[in-house]
Amino acid sequence: MAGLDTPSAAEAKRLNIPKNQVPNRRVTLEHLQRRADGGGGNRDNLAVACKGCNSARGRTDWLTYKSIQMGEISP
Ligand SMILES: [Zn+2]
Repeated sequence: MAGLDTPSAAEAKRLNIPKNQVPNRRVTLEHLQRRADGGGGNRDNLAVACKGCNSARGRTDWLTYKSIQMGEISP
């Protein structure tokens, strides 16, 4: 269970803590359009997501990923 004493993804990055030490349910800021696809850090490209979803989405676009997670479509 993630507690408030555990590092957020941003804190971990700042403190150079390995990503796998950030708890899976910790809140992260996700880039809706991936940075690899040219998405920027503007407010309208960011959403809160747990670390698990943030890292599991991979190349899938956010709407498809969300629809799969909500059971609206099958993978
Ligand atoms: Zn999630």
